[in-house]
Amino acid sequence: MTTIQVGLYFLLGAYILFSIFFCTLVLFSTFADSVFIRYLSSTHLGKPVVYHLQQVVEWLEGPKCGICLAQYWSTGDMAPRVMNCGHTYCGSCIEIFAEQKDGMVICPFCTRTHFCNTIHPLPFFSENHLLIILCSSLITVNLWKCQTCRKKYSSQDVSRTPRVYSTCGHTSCEACVESDFTQKKRVVCLTCEGRSGGITVVAENWKPHVPINYAIRDLLKE
Ligand SMILES: [Zn+2]
Ligand SMILES: [Zn+2]
Ligand SMILES: [Zn+2]
Ligand SMILES: [Zn+2]
Repeated sequence: MTTIQVGLYFLLGAYILFSIFFCTLVLFSTFADSVFIRYLSSTHLGKPVVYHLQQVVEWLEGPKCGICLAQYWSTGDMAPRVMNCGHTYCGSCIEIFAEQKDGMVICPFCTRTHFCNTIHPLPFFSENHLLIILCSSLITVNLWKCQTCRKKYSSQDVSRTPRVYSTCGHTSCEACVESDFTQKKRVVCLTCEGRSGGITVVAENWKPHVPINYAIRDLLKE
């Protein structure tokens, strides 16, 4: 056999293995609630297999809106929008909330009230940029780093908690936001420096202005 033939056999083998893996995933996500999968996840050996397949399916499907459970898109009405309270929903759900309460959006999670326009509510809520990047790329959130300090975000370590500037929708880690505030005594986005709608606020406490980016924190699995 020549080197080329060996190479071709190798490629064919890799292709077959990948196809089997992909078919398993498709079958798994289709019959995720079947009696067989439920039986498998109750057995000692099947449990970790089912768990890991679930993780892969979840990762391939991408993040979803917590209200309508539809997958987020990177543009349009289905893009994720973050509110001042740090909670994220799809644009479509926010439009429905605004219409129901005449330009008032009450966060279904923490019940904080946000005021906007009934007909065009979306410009009042910034897109959650980090979540959009995660929707449209193959990078998992666990590998994503704070763009300022290059350290990974964490749901356990408070200083690495993802914080979102709700006026522009950019995310940085808690330690970076805090040290910038301590130096400058004002809140200004570390990514866009307030250029994309971020306002500079002089405040005693920066935390209410840069809430936790819950959608990102909840995606972190540690
Ligand atoms: Zn939604
Ligand atoms: Zn909220
Ligand atoms: Zn940082
Ligand atoms: Zn910004």
